[in-house]
Amino acid sequence: MQAIDTLTPCPCGNETGYARCCGPLHEGGVAETAEQLMRSRYSAYVLKREDYLLATWHGSTRPAHLKLGAQQPAPTWLGLTVKRHESADDHATVEFVARLRYGGGKAQRMHEISRFVRENGRWFYVDGEFPGE
Ligand SMILES: [Zn+2]
Repeated sequence: MQAIDTLTPCPCGNETGYARCCGPLHEGGVAETAEQLMRSRYSAYVLKREDYLLATWHGSTRPAHLKLGAQQPAPTWLGLTVKRHESADDHATVEFVARLRYGGGKAQRMHEISRFVRENGRWFYVDGEFPGE
């Protein structure tokens, strides 16, 4: 079986590979930008790293748990496209489209504009809006 740290490309789509992209963040590294954090959170959904998702969720909006393993039908994540990243001081927004499929269903798009804040040098996901297509 292939070790997780050799995944190429990274689940977020970066050709550099997991070990040099989202992997270090999942192991406690600090994301330089909200976009990096957003990509690493996408990869965490792919890899079912619930601990990481909760740790990077701002305390004001963080759910108690996610139960990713219990989600039915289970989502299969198909890819990520970051469309826009804007930041000013300690606030940022990242607009992206994630593609996924639930169970044997057809592929669908999740279009989200996520808000992030930086506290003590670390970015956190706050919440998101879902603009109409
Ligand atoms: Zn990545």
